[in-house]
Amino acid sequence: MTAQIIDGKAIAREVRAEWKLRADRLNAYGAPAGLAVIMVGDNPASRVYVANKLRASQEMGIRSERYLYPADVAESIVIERIQALNADASIHGILVQLPLPPQISVRKVVETISPDKDVDGFHLYNVGALVHGGNLFPPCTPYGVMCLLDRSGIPIVGQNVTVVGASNIVGKPLGLMFLQREATVAICHVKTRDLAQFTIAADILVVAAGQPDLITAPMVRTAAVVIDVGINRLPDGRFRGDVEFDTVRQKASHITPVPGGVGPMTVTMLLCNTIASAERFLQAKAA
Ligand code: NDP
Repeated sequence: MTAQIIDGKAIAREVRAEWKLRADRLNAYGAPAGLAVIMVGDNPASRVYVANKLRASQEMGIRSERYLYPADVAESIVIERIQALNADASIHGILVQLPLPPQISVRKVVETISPDKDVDGFHLYNVGALVHGGNLFPPCTPYGVMCLLDRSGIPIVGQNVTVVGASNIVGKPLGLMFLQREATVAICHVKTRDLAQFTIAADILVVAAGQPDLITAPMVRTAAVVIDVGINRLPDGRFRGDVEFDTVRQKASHITPVPGGVGPMTVTMLLCNTIASAERFLQAKAA
């Protein structure tokens, strides 16, 4: 068996084209979606991510603002900026690029963002809503994974799902989203004993550990769907996922490549969250 490749770039293009129509409608009403991106310090990776997000926003017809602060900025300055953006009716999404320097509490910053502008989906309200349902903003990478599966026609109800990785931004929310969709979920982490015992049982295996080639073919069930979230930069500069692609693709039914799988979806879902937020604000104003 050779797996069908889930083409994240093509699916991201398709999703963006659909949401662009919604962004255009907001622009036609004179109520463009607005995104504010805050970056502290000069982390080269963050600079690239922020530039990508701003470019993608512009292409989508989302108005964006960028706030750059030096690495030694006081926490209070960033907090005040967020409070001002919370009160700004032209802004519907606020994103603080992580990581932040040590004098700034990520928790405090994220909790200052108004939950109805928290387009990254990191605020406690939005995290808690994953348990209860009624989530305003699904966190972007897990949302992107679900979107890839849905657009590839892969059923989720009743499937055995294993998520390798239990971070707050990827593994845990993803596990909750699968549970919400009535899958049976195992979430694995560093302390998991005999990882292969869980991965081999999975109809859908999602890997977000940040360990190149952690998952090899013998760990994967025949005809499983394999989603590789991992992005690892090798010493020669190339990118590699967490799954040994060439061998696992001989066994899986579907697989995402790295790059070109989950990556393009993360920014796409951020744009979707921002547009959905602007639509909600407009509806609330009209009501
Ligand atoms: P974290 O480092 O925050 O979390 C990694 C998780 O994987 C932790 O829960 C850790 O367990 C677990 N883990 C690490 N090694 C193993 C192992 N050998 N066996 C089992 N579990 C393991 O990373 P993130 O969640 O932020 O990101 C994960 C990967 O996804 C990274 O490569 C990152 O670059 C990529 N990523 C990609 C995105 C995209 O857009 N495609 C977006 C976000 C992340 P423990 O909790 O016990 O430490």
